[in-house]
Amino acid sequence: MTNEASQVSSVPVQARSIKDFLNPSVRDIKPSGIRRFFDLVSTRKDVITLGVGEPDFVTPWHVREAAVMSLERGKTQYTSNAGMPELRDAIGAYLDNSFQVEYNPADEILVTVGGSEAIDLALRALISPGDEILIPEPCYISYSPITVLSGGVSVGIETFAKDQFKLTAESLKKSITPKSKVLILCYPSNPTGGIMTYEDWLPIAKVVEENDLIVISDEIYAELTYGSKHVSFAAIPGMKDRTILVSGFAKAFAMTGWRIGYACGHPEIISAMLKIHQYTVMCAPVMSQYAALEALTNGLEEKDKMIESYNQRRRLVVQGFREIGLQCHEPQGAFYAFPSIASTGLTSEQFAQRLLEEANVAAVPGDVFGLGGEGHLRCSYATSVASLTEAIERIGNFVHKLK
Ligand code: PMP
Repeated sequence: MTNEASQVSSVPVQARSIKDFLNPSVRDIKPSGIRRFFDLVSTRKDVITLGVGEPDFVTPWHVREAAVMSLERGKTQYTSNAGMPELRDAIGAYLDNSFQVEYNPADEILVTVGGSEAIDLALRALISPGDEILIPEPCYISYSPITVLSGGVSVGIETFAKDQFKLTAESLKKSITPKSKVLILCYPSNPTGGIMTYEDWLPIAKVVEENDLIVISDEIYAELTYGSKHVSFAAIPGMKDRTILVSGFAKAFAMTGWRIGYACGHPEIISAMLKIHQYTVMCAPVMSQYAALEALTNGLEEKDKMIESYNQRRRLVVQGFREIGLQCHEPQGAFYAFPSIASTGLTSEQFAQRLLEEANVAAVPGDVFGLGGEGHLRCSYATSVASLTEAIERIGNFVHKLK
């Protein structure tokens, strides 16, 4: 190296701040509103929390034991990228028996790290820059950020308590543009508890067909319905090849920490998703796959008992809110109530903050779930009857003090 060259290379470049190294779309995404709120909760004592979207049951013992046994048998290696064939077979049989949707385990089912990874893979596999992704809201908090991270544009479609938070064909039609590509559905809904019946789906399917959309249907709460049985969007005539069905074991089988879910769909889409999956996570954790296999093989009765228990608590909570004088539509699925707090004159954020500070009850302000969430509070009833009863009493006293 000449003297001149070494001098040039030693000229200090203007150092970038750490922020400048970050991908702008990651940098600009807001952290989850739920997390922010629960950081606050963790600083307080004796809080009753209706905030967390997870079962209060521990995974049944025989399911845990299956994972322990798999380890004792030395099953500690990678599995096939798509998931163990016997687990894919069991998922296929389960979906067929429960929801009358048939998938070929060989190339239409992919086992993922929770339903979360399945949503991420589906969006990454489908989105090209600028594509518009239609998202009925209020909705699960991850759809819009993952859309943006994948280069898409998220287009919220507001749903309303007066319609029991169902998506209507009219509002879907109004949101469609030539750039629309994907519709994300989540029924039974987190956070509203809304469901869609066969008759509700038919006009939606027509709009999907007429506008050549593809659908990601997040059916992670499919088993948790009270009254009418879940109808998979993939089971609507003509919709199977247009739908990526996303689900998992977290909610119905009380397995949140195991991180195990799945996606089902057209072989070409599943193989595109598999490419991303194999380069990022290789396969879902092997012991979790053994546990999931046991849950599907021998765990269906326990699942039904847990659902009955959620149903009792659902009635208690809805009646409780109505007695306090808060309007509460009847949630028919998942394990959330979504009462309106608009009559108190407070915003969701103000209500949730003051409820925490003055009554020691944590619930999630509805505005974090997007359009239509303001004026509501998401309360998970997947907690003990004693805690729910005490929480309702505290909320009642708090609301009466506001008057
Ligand atoms: N979809 C919805 C609607 C959810 O509520 C959740 C979890 N809260 C997920 C997906 C993610 O589930 P998993 O734990 O299987 O990743």
